[in-house]
Amino acid sequence: MDARRLLPSVEKILQMNQIQSLVAVYGRNLTLSATRQVLEDARTAISQRGLIPREEQILRAIEEHLIALTTPSLIPVINASGVILHTNLGRAPLSQEAMQAARQVACRYSNLEYDLEKGKRGSRLFHAEKYLCHLTGAEAALVVNNNAAAVLLALAALASRRRVVIARSQLVEIGGGFRIPDVMRQSGAKLLEIGTTNRVNLEDYRSSMEQNPVLFLVAHRSNFKLIGFTAEPSLPEIANLAHQAGIPLLVDLGSGTLIDTARFGLAHEPMVQEVLQDGADLVCFSGDKLLGGPQAGIIVGKKLFIEKLRRHPLARAVRADKIALATLSATLLHYMKEEAIQKVPIWQMIAQSAEDIRRRANDWKAKLAQQGISSEVMEGMSTVGGGSLPEESLSTYLLAIQAKQAETSLKRLRQNSPPVIARIEQDKVVFDPRTVFVEEENELIAAIKALKGQVL
Ligand SMILES: *Cc1c(COP(=O)(O)O)cnc(C)c1O
Repeated sequence: MDARRLLPSVEKILQMNQIQSLVAVYGRNLTLSATRQVLEDARTAISQRGLIPREEQILRAIEEHLIALTTPSLIPVINASGVILHTNLGRAPLSQEAMQAARQVACRYSNLEYDLEKGKRGSRLFHAEKYLCHLTGAEAALVVNNNAAAVLLALAALASRRRVVIARSQLVEIGGGFRIPDVMRQSGAKLLEIGTTNRVNLEDYRSSMEQNPVLFLVAHRSNFKLIGFTAEPSLPEIANLAHQAGIPLLVDLGSGTLIDTARFGLAHEPMVQEVLQDGADLVCFSGDKLLGGPQAGIIVGKKLFIEKLRRHPLARAVRADKIALATLSATLLHYMKEEAIQKVPIWQMIAQSAEDIRRRANDWKAKLAQQGISSEVMEGMSTVGGGSLPEESLSTYLLAIQAKQAETSLKRLRQNSPPVIARIEQDKVVFDPRTVFVEEENELIAAIKALKGQVL
């Protein structure tokens, strides 16, 4: 007799009580397709290896199949890498207040585009504008989907089919396929490159005027450093020249920051308010880099130009959604109230002292020792990441574990629930407390404990 006939039929399985409780949770369609899949796998196993699964094995396989099918692919992870704005790990985590604000507008109706005073259609654009103007000293502001979209929109609205001057030393690639020259072409603007890879001077800007450009673009070298025999005019010099010629200066700041990074022993990342003061007419920056808010592109500057951007058809295509506007406003409010360093997670992490981190690492070490796992606390470096402050680092203390197989340990940690992202240094698996939230510590310790006996 064909052993495959020993398998129960789909109909028989669906009548079982245990399956009925799965139907109640996952619905009939999913349960049916999981059952079919499991029976098919069982038939293959029988014909290839002659293994006949027991009924309870089939039931368990169906449930596992349903769990795998319905587990979301986007899940939280513990970032023990010490990279604060980790581009692959979602960049900036939001503050509690920002999350509250998201909850408020997400689950209910809101006045997103409704003027409560007049009782008619309003604009979604004014929600974060008040705070942005207050914080940066700009006349007007506009929020779009991300900074790449902000640059695209600004170029399309101000320079389509016209020439835009940019220094060759600023034709940068940010990562993830964002290349300034490509974005310029996409916008319809014509690139007018000046200077050389390492040097550009005011005369280069001046002589570019002969070709009637309509815009100067300055792009911040977010993720690399230009060192050695280099030169670039200062921003006020470029701005002066632009204004003498009657054309605007657009600065793509990338991260941008409202707080001086030099306060924390880091290099000085250009601040939005400074760049405006230096004469930029428009400044673009990200919502989820050093601002520490949601994914967004923020454009601040002269009202005249912001209005042009607002009226451009692309503005509708790249607009920010209500959850981003709510979380951005709540994040900006932390800066308004001068509590950003205490409340915005990325600033808490940047501001955390090495001493505090050492204490946390020692605490983890003691907890692991209770479980018979030996570890050590060693000095190390955290980085800001996210395409900002290249080569800059913050002194930290790492919890280090001597693993039999370091790479396998990292893999096991990634398979943990929640996954833990650690790194290897001097052949040891290391965990940086700086980027681990205090509320995640127990889960992290449990994940390390689970390695015992396997790879430790
Ligand atoms: C990061 C960055 C961008 C892109 O910003 P997103 O918010 O990721 O779209 C653009 N320009 C510069 C200079 C950047 O550093």
